[in-house]
Amino acid sequence: MDIITVQHLTKVYGTGPAATRALDDVSFSIAEGEYVAIVGSSGSGKSTLLHLMGGVDRPTSGTVLLNGADVYARSDEELAVFRRREVGLVYQFYNLIPVLNVVENMTLPVSLDGRPVNEARLASLLASLGLEGREGHLPNQLSGGQQQRVAIGRALMNAPAVVLADEPTGNLDSKNSREIMALLRASNKEMGQTLVVITHDEDIALSADRIIAIEDGRVARDERIRR
Ligand code: ADP
Ligand code: ADP
Repeated sequence: MDIITVQHLTKVYGTGPAATRALDDVSFSIAEGEYVAIVGSSGSGKSTLLHLMGGVDRPTSGTVLLNGADVYARSDEELAVFRRREVGLVYQFYNLIPVLNVVENMTLPVSLDGRPVNEARLASLLASLGLEGREGHLPNQLSGGQQQRVAIGRALMNAPAVVLADEPTGNLDSKNSREIMALLRASNKEMGQTLVVITHDEDIALSADRIIAIEDGRVARDERIRR
């Protein structure tokens, strides 16, 4: 079954002569549980595409279906709830809140929704992410690899069907990169979570089920990796 359907997605930033067509009529589908790498040169439109799959921005035209539901038929308020509950977002520079500790950062999307924290899930995530004993630490008291683990914890807290990661290892050394990818892969393999990762790392791209290459706002290649 397809979990994500990108339909004729176009994104133009700005207006008039300064306008940039970041995405130009992009369409494809991603199956439930699939692990997709998105590659392409800088400025080709990868982040714009990922953000639009996650309800972070609105398209100029076209839309995205998640589990058959039109993401952009939602109001801005509904879209904020969608981002917190339905998808997990992971960024290159972690995007943690500096004044919140590990647990507060991980549970932020839940607290913003005014819902109770699933303590059992929090404990199991802290353990699997190797963050036990760090619960009260602030981001600046953690290494980059640890900060990215917290960001992954925040993304996984609501057990979203889809995890969207924008160069999650772009700021990490090779050992931490491998560990972070292994953590993202574990929940893809074990829970059938769909994983979409933007990467410049060829080894990571080749570890995916499928590589979508974006050039000048269009899909230049879409290949399944044969094993
Ligand atoms: P990539 O992730 O492949 O580097 P982006 O999606 O970030 O590409 O950017 C695609 C194009 O859109 C680039 O030309 C970029 O400069 C432009 N762009 C991205 N975000 C914005 C924005 N918020 N305002 C204006 N232009 C933007
Ligand atoms: P905004 O008020 O800017 O719309 P949100 O309410 O969507 O922000 O999110 C607030 C904070 O929670 C942000 O720092 C964001 O990075 C984080 N966050 C929200 N949803 C998710 C998610 N699905 N995965 C990871 N982090 C999230």
